[in-house]
Amino acid sequence: MSINIPNATKLVILGHTGVGKTSLALRFTQGEFVDCQLSTIGAQCITKSVELPDNQINFAIWDTAGQERFHSLAPIYYRNARAAIVVYDITQKQSYEIAQRWVEEMQQQGDKKIIISLVGNKSDLSESREVKMKIAQQYAQENNLLFLETSAKTGEHVEDLFFKIAEMIPDSN
Ligand code: GDP
Ligand code: MG
Repeated sequence: MSINIPNATKLVILGHTGVGKTSLALRFTQGEFVDCQLSTIGAQCITKSVELPDNQINFAIWDTAGQERFHSLAPIYYRNARAAIVVYDITQKQSYEIAQRWVEEMQQQGDKKIIISLVGNKSDLSESREVKMKIAQQYAQENNLLFLETSAKTGEHVEDLFFKIAEMIPDSN
């Protein structure tokens, strides 16, 4: 069973159910081919390239298919990942707490060089906000995380997010 696509930079999306992980992946990769599956752990991946001025990053973006509750499978899921996007929903404080747990787990057990991003999704619903941007931003700063608020619905900052990550991937050429 091969879960690594040659020449692709593995990126995993983590976070509580319903925060918008699948929506973010689909918004960014719109219409692209889902070409890898790991059905035993209910994960799938979509490939998408990001063109930088003098480099190209081919992302294999892994998304869980609603299997977030099987936490024990997580290490299989994020093994060999170069980047992780930990998503919470700005209108659900509990999802922020779960995101912090993911960050801590990745920092303790994941590859030390993994690029971790903390993402507050559903920024279009700011009238129902439960997580202050400043608080999350400060947490991200203290933990060396990229931080953005996004909306998979409007597309706000979705491209930015993947470009910022791509820029941090060391040039392999
Ligand atoms: P997942 O379980 O983390 O993969 O979450 P989904 O991508 O399935 O999204 C869960 C629900 O939130 C769906 O009804 C989405 O339409 C909705 N959703 C996802 N992203 C956004 C967003 O940025 N804004 C709003 N308003 N709804 C969103
Ligand atoms: Mg999903």
